[in-house]
Amino acid sequence: MAVLSWKHHTLIQLLLERGPLTEKEFHSIFTAITGENPGTHPRKFNDYLLKINRELSYVQLDLRACRDTYDGRVYYGVVNNVSDNQSKLGTKYSVPQIAFFKAIVEAIAQDVTAEGCICNMDVLNIKLENQDGSLGIPAAFRNFTMSQKEKTLDQLVKDKWLCYTEDDNIGVGVRSVLDLRSWFNNAGVPSCEVCNEAGLKAKLCPNEGCTVRIHEHCLKKIFSQKGVVVCPSCDTRWQYQPPKTEPIELKEEETDPMPSQPSSRPAQSQSSLRSKRKRQRLSQNDDANTVGCSSQAEMKRVTRSSAHPR
Ligand SMILES: [Zn+2]
Ligand SMILES: [Zn+2]
Repeated sequence: MAVLSWKHHTLIQLLLERGPLTEKEFHSIFTAITGENPGTHPRKFNDYLLKINRELSYVQLDLRACRDTYDGRVYYGVVNNVSDNQSKLGTKYSVPQIAFFKAIVEAIAQDVTAEGCICNMDVLNIKLENQDGSLGIPAAFRNFTMSQKEKTLDQLVKDKWLCYTEDDNIGVGVRSVLDLRSWFNNAGVPSCEVCNEAGLKAKLCPNEGCTVRIHEHCLKKIFSQKGVVVCPSCDTRWQYQPPKTEPIELKEEETDPMPSQPSSRPAQSQSSLRSKRKRQRLSQNDDANTVGCSSQAEMKRVTRSSAHPR
């Protein structure tokens, strides 16, 4: 079709190589490549994205934006529209690694308290033998050691399929938020009442009989507009204290707008440091298959189950 210029191609290539990118990163790259500022010329920006998406749809890819479930920042990324995990995680991950990832994401998705995370110990204690046999796990997983789990965890965090949350637990990475949108929907994760994205990390309506969830950053938006938060479904008034600081803009990483220097990403070095720290803490007993950890996830799952029948 040849309707895409080198500028379109460079944007696609960058998102594939380095994505997902924060809105700030993507905008500055866009400006560097096209000479246009998305802030002042949103129509030009949208035209580029539409044109790219029209062509990507032929190969079942999609350029998409989402809000991170933890901090509300906007990210852009190219996602795979084929629905199975195998093709989403590509050839980079083995069958037991994909099953391990799936088990982690399922545990987070099923948490009825919407904490949006699972503790490190629970992750390492995940037993894939208990999963459905459709992926042919059992034999492969018998050889999946603790150190392989830790290594897989590191890789999944580096690739932004998972992330470390502020309190050092494991959460869903922004790539999962972008790419697994329909999976979360099919898995019955309630959407945020305000933005309609999966309410993985969200506040629950104080009325136990109501299933409404709202992200912290969406609550903040409502509160700043109305000065009060009232449940849109059951009219219960929410106790909401807006956070004192404004971490979102301050935490933005400085990025180099030029596309050709992918290495030395601050986010990656930070995450590998954290995981090293964690490994020191956790690996006293390397190849054992269980580690003593109170299974918070199990408890969470039953706490509100009567109020949230699935
Ligand atoms: Zn929301
Ligand atoms: Zn409610």
